[in-house]
Amino acid sequence: MKIFKKIFVLIFLNMFCISNSTNASSPDSFKIVLDAGHGAADLGCAKNRASGEDEDTSIRAYPHPSNSSLFVREYRYNKKWVNERSTNLKIAFYLKEELQKYKTLEGNEVKVFLTRTTNEENPALFDRVNLGKQLAANVVISLHNNASGNYSRKARGAMVLVTSSKSDARSEFKTEDSKLYLEEESLANSILKELEKIGISRATTSGETLTKGGTLPITPGQISLENGLLRRFSEDTDKYPNGQLSDFYKIIRAGVNLGIPAIIVEHAYFDNEVDYKNFLSTDKSLKALAKADAKGIANFYRLQKQQKI
Ligand SMILES: [Zn+2]
Repeated sequence: MKIFKKIFVLIFLNMFCISNSTNASSPDSFKIVLDAGHGAADLGCAKNRASGEDEDTSIRAYPHPSNSSLFVREYRYNKKWVNERSTNLKIAFYLKEELQKYKTLEGNEVKVFLTRTTNEENPALFDRVNLGKQLAANVVISLHNNASGNYSRKARGAMVLVTSSKSDARSEFKTEDSKLYLEEESLANSILKELEKIGISRATTSGETLTKGGTLPITPGQISLENGLLRRFSEDTDKYPNGQLSDFYKIIRAGVNLGIPAIIVEHAYFDNEVDYKNFLSTDKSLKALAKADAKGIANFYRLQKQQKI
């Protein structure tokens, strides 16, 4: 009898160890990389200098540290200068906190990683997505806010930047595997749906000249904005390994090249006074943005919010 008891205890311990070690290696945990856009000297909201901007005393612009044709901008509201870089980092911290309240359907934890944790850092764009690849993360989400670059500053609302590549761009064969395309599109829609619930409508103009999407042949620089989803092709002849014209935005392009979903969420317009006041001006409103992002991500990846005990 004693021996049976011992064997039973051993089996029990073994089971415990196995399940414990499974948890430790966490094959089923959900990993997400949050990327607070910009950093260091790059304050964000970079655009070409709009005519008449110099007379607008509520904007100050500096040459972009790595792109001489662009200017990064700060905006003055209530006598305070504010910029995108710092706001994006706050959203990243709030979103991390919020996502950690969720678990996978199997009860595994949600692991959240940040590409930068201070305003002094500015990792290279490829490295931000590559961090996700190295960690074998499920997705990389780059957090931003927008600026129209138009002097009228009328553009407003949210948009998500996703890949234009419908086929498996890494393959030299033009397969019809559109897994990444569909995942980015559905995730983007899930996030935009939650942002709409807190009052941020899907942006209808990006301040850029839009060319209608879905038409062939695809031309370099083609941009489409449909239902808040922005797709933009490379302006030069930069191509994916399958010969298709690559995506314009480096984060999106790196995601396709590395085979990991990577999207950019532009929550609201910094240079639209209504957007700024309603959604970006207080910690409370930034927390609400992060909460909406988390719900959108959780709905798509079927994560469950844990009940408070
Ligand atoms: Zn940005």
